[in-house]
Amino acid sequence: MSVPSKARVVIIGGGVIGCSVAYHLTKKGWSDVVLLERKQLTSGTTWHAAGLIAQLRATQNMTRLAKYSQELYGSLEEETGVATGFKRNGSITVALSEERKEEIFRQASMARAFGVEIHEISPEEVKAKYEHLNTEDVLAGVYLPLDGQGDPANIALALAKGARQRGAKVLEHTKVTGLQKQGRRVTAVEWENEEGSGVIECDMIVNCAGMWGHQVGRMAGTNVPLHACEHFYIVTDAIEGLQQLPVLRVPDECAYYKEDAGKILLGAFEPNAKPWGMDGIPDNFMFDQLPEDFDHFEPILEAAVNRMPLLAEAGIHTFFNGPESFTPDDAYHLGLAPEMDNVWVAAGFNSIGIQSAGGAGMALSEWMDSGEKPFDLGDVDISRMHPFQGNKTYLYERSKETLGLLYADHFPYRQKATARGVRRTALHEHLEARGAVFGELAGWERANWYADEGQEREYQYSWKRQNWFENSAREHRAVRENVGLYDMSSFGKIRVEGPDAEAFLNYVAAGDYSVPVGKIVYTQFLNSRAGIEADVTVTRLSETAYLVVTPAATRLADETWLRRHVGDFRVVITDMTNAETVIAVMGPNSRKLLQAVSPNDFSNAVNPFGTAQEIELGMGLARIHRVTYVGELGWEVYVSNDMAAHAFETLCEAGQDMGAKLCGMHMMDSCRIEKAFRHFGHDITCEDHILEAGLGFAVKKDKPDFIGRDAVLRKQDEGLKNRMVQFRLTDPDPLLYHAEPIIRDGEVVSFLTSGNYGHTLGGAIGLGYVPCEGESAEQLLSSTYEIEVAGRRVKAEASLKPMYDPKSERVKA
Ligand SMILES: Cc1cc2nc3c(=O)[nH]c(=O)nc-3n(C[C@H](O)[C@H](O)[C@H](O)COP(=O)(O)OP(=O)(O)OC[C@H]3O[C@@H](n4cnc5c(N)ncnc54)[C@H](O)[C@@H]3O)c2cc1C
Repeated sequence: MSVPSKARVVIIGGGVIGCSVAYHLTKKGWSDVVLLERKQLTSGTTWHAAGLIAQLRATQNMTRLAKYSQELYGSLEEETGVATGFKRNGSITVALSEERKEEIFRQASMARAFGVEIHEISPEEVKAKYEHLNTEDVLAGVYLPLDGQGDPANIALALAKGARQRGAKVLEHTKVTGLQKQGRRVTAVEWENEEGSGVIECDMIVNCAGMWGHQVGRMAGTNVPLHACEHFYIVTDAIEGLQQLPVLRVPDECAYYKEDAGKILLGAFEPNAKPWGMDGIPDNFMFDQLPEDFDHFEPILEAAVNRMPLLAEAGIHTFFNGPESFTPDDAYHLGLAPEMDNVWVAAGFNSIGIQSAGGAGMALSEWMDSGEKPFDLGDVDISRMHPFQGNKTYLYERSKETLGLLYADHFPYRQKATARGVRRTALHEHLEARGAVFGELAGWERANWYADEGQEREYQYSWKRQNWFENSAREHRAVRENVGLYDMSSFGKIRVEGPDAEAFLNYVAAGDYSVPVGKIVYTQFLNSRAGIEADVTVTRLSETAYLVVTPAATRLADETWLRRHVGDFRVVITDMTNAETVIAVMGPNSRKLLQAVSPNDFSNAVNPFGTAQEIELGMGLARIHRVTYVGELGWEVYVSNDMAAHAFETLCEAGQDMGAKLCGMHMMDSCRIEKAFRHFGHDITCEDHILEAGLGFAVKKDKPDFIGRDAVLRKQDEGLKNRMVQFRLTDPDPLLYHAEPIIRDGEVVSFLTSGNYGHTLGGAIGLGYVPCEGESAEQLLSSTYEIEVAGRRVKAEASLKPMYDPKSERVKA
C-alpha cells in the first residue's frame, strides 16, 4: 500500500492503543485516518502482554472505560472474524492482612456504586473456586465474575482490521522520522520505509508510540513523561488436569496467576522495579525480549510456590522479561498535549494497556471528534503533567516505584517514596526545622502535618486513623479557635495582563471581572456544557492586570485553557508561580496577628472579605488577599520570595505569644469539607454542571457572552438533575475517603466525591451528588441516608447548606 500524501489524522504507533484509536475514529465516521507503524503491528509491548482484562479501577470514569474495553472485546471476534481469545473467566483478589481485607472490601463497596458485579468471598469460597491454592493465611477475597482474559496481539489485530474495514490506512514498516510544525500546530509527518521517504500533510497527529512516546513527544515539542521498565512473568509447562480458572491476584505477594491452555502464567509487580532504556529505546527493537534475571524474580517465585504448591512440580517453560512504559503517577496519558493545539496523546499504559485500550480509544476519539472531553478524564489527562516531569533522571528514579504501586496497599494519603524534593518553597527549611512532615503534589513538597517533638516524622499508613490523626486534629482546632499558619506557595499564579484583560476574563470565565482594583473574584472556567474546567480566584491587581490563582495540580491545565481561548484578545499570559510565597493566616485571631506585624488596617471597612491590599509586614512588603478555604476569618499573604523568610519569621514570632500553630494540608482538607467547599478534580469536574455543583452564586448570568452561558441558562429553566449534598456520619468512628456508596432510602444512588474527618462536626464528612430530577430540596432532604463503608451501612445526616457556619458569619467577622 502506498503512503498517502495527505490525511486528516496520522496515528503514530501500531500497538493495541494506536489500533484502538484508529478503530474508534473510523467508527465515528472518520475515513481519512492513517496509522504508521515503524516495524510490525504489536511488535513493541503489546505482543507479549499477559492479557488480564479487569473492569474495576479507582474512579468511576476509569472503571467506565475499563468496563467498556471488556464489553468491546467480547464482541470484537464476531465483528472482525479475528479470534481474540477473549473469555470471561472471572477474577479473584485475596487478602493476606487485615489492612488489605479492608482495602478490597472498600473496593467492593465502590464497585457496586460503579455498577460492577462483585462479591466478597470467604477463604473457603476462594478455595472452592481455586482448589490449588494454599488458603491457610487468606483472610478474605473478592470475586468479579465478569472479569476476563484475552490474547493481546489478536485483540490489537482485530481492532486494526475493524479500522481497515472502515477505510483506515494501516501501514507497517514505515517509521515517523520527524514532524513539521507551524506555531502551535504540526503540519506534516515525515516518514521513511524500505522504498523511500516522504511527507504526509495532516490536520493532527496522535502519539501512540508506547515506550517511544517520550521521544515522539519531543519530536512534536511536547512533554510525555514516561519511562520503560522491565516487566516479568513465567509460564509453566502444561500441568496435567489443569482446567479453566479465574485470574487470581495476590497483591500482598506482588503476584498474579493466569491459567491458559493448561499452563500457569505467574506475573510480578515487585516493589523495586528495574528501569530500562535510559539511552533511548534501540532502533531495531521488534518482538524482542530482555535478558532474564532470575535473582530479581526469585522472591516472587518462592512465595508463589508456597501459595500454589503445584508450581514446585511444574517445569518452567518460559521466563519472560519485556519492557513496558510507566508514568510518574501510574496513570496513562490521554488527550491534547498542552504545548500544541493538534497533538493528541495516548501513551504510557503502566501495564494495563490491554484492558485500557478499548476505553481509551473510545474516549479519545470522542474528544477528538467533538473537541471537548466527553466526560471527566482528569485522572489521565496529559495536561496534569508538569514540565519538570519530563526530566529523564526524575523519570528513571520514579519509575522504580510505579510498577510495584499497582499491587501495593493503596492506603489513603500514601506518598510516593522516590524522586522527591524536586520543588520546594522558599519556606521549606523553616517548616522542616519546625517539625513538618511533607507530602508531594505536582513535585511540590508540602507540609501535610507537623510532628510533635520526639515523634517519628513518618506516615504510618492504615485504613483506620493514621499516626498523624491527633496532630492534625490539634491543627484543626487552632484554626477554628485561634490562628494557624500554613504554606500555600504551591498555588499556581498566572498573570493575565493587557488592554483586553477585563474583556478576556469576562469571556473565558463565569464571574464578573468588571470590578474595582483590589477585588477578588472566586470563579470557574466553564465548557460549553457549563461543566467546570477550572476553579480559581481572580484578583484585579490594576486596570490592566489580574492574578489568576489556581490549585497546584492544575496550573498547567488552567494556563493552557486560558491560552487556547485568547483568540484576538490583546492579553499576555505569564506563569508567575515561582515569584511569590503564600502564607495563609487563618482563624478568629488572624486579624489580631496581622495587626501585630503591620501598621495597615485590616478592618471590614478597609479590607472586607474578597478584597486584597498592599501592606507593610515587619520590615518588608506584602499583598494580602482576604479569602479562605477553611471557612474562617483569614488572609493569604503573598510576599515576593526575597522577603518570604522575613515575613514568615515575623509572623511566627508575633504568633508565638498568641499560641498560633503551624498547620498542614490535612488540616486544610478537614476544615474545607466541614464548610462544604468543593475540591476541584473530585467534587467538581468538567462533567459537573456548575448549577448542580451548587456554585451558581459565582456565575454572573447576565453577562452578554461567556463560555458556557447557554448551558447555564438552559439548566436554570430545566431544573437540576443532581445536587451536591454534604453528609456527616452519625457514628464518629468510621472514616471516609472517596467513592463510598450513597444509599438513599435503602438504595445505592451514587457515591461520595470526597471525604475526610470533621473534627469540629465530630464525625466523618463526605460530599457527593444525589440524583433529584423533579424534586424539591425538601423532598431530597426528607429521605434517610446511609453511606457504605467497607460493606457496612452507616447512618448519615444530609445537608444542602454547609453544616459548619452556614451563614459564613465567621468568614465575614
Ligand atoms: C510482561 C507484561 C505483561 C503485561 N500484561 C498485561 C495485562 O495482563 N493486561 C494489560 O492490560 N496490559 C498488560 N501489559 C501492558 C500492555 O502490554 C501495554 O500497556 C500495551 O501493550 C501498550 O500498548 P501501546 O500501544 O501503548 O504500546 P506498544 O505496543 O509498544 O506500541 C507502540 C508502537 O509504536 C511504534 N512506534 C514507536 N515509534 C514509532 C515511530 N517513530 N514511527 C512509527 N511507529 C512507532 C512501535 O514500534 C510500537 O509498535 C503487560 C506488559 C508487559 C510488559
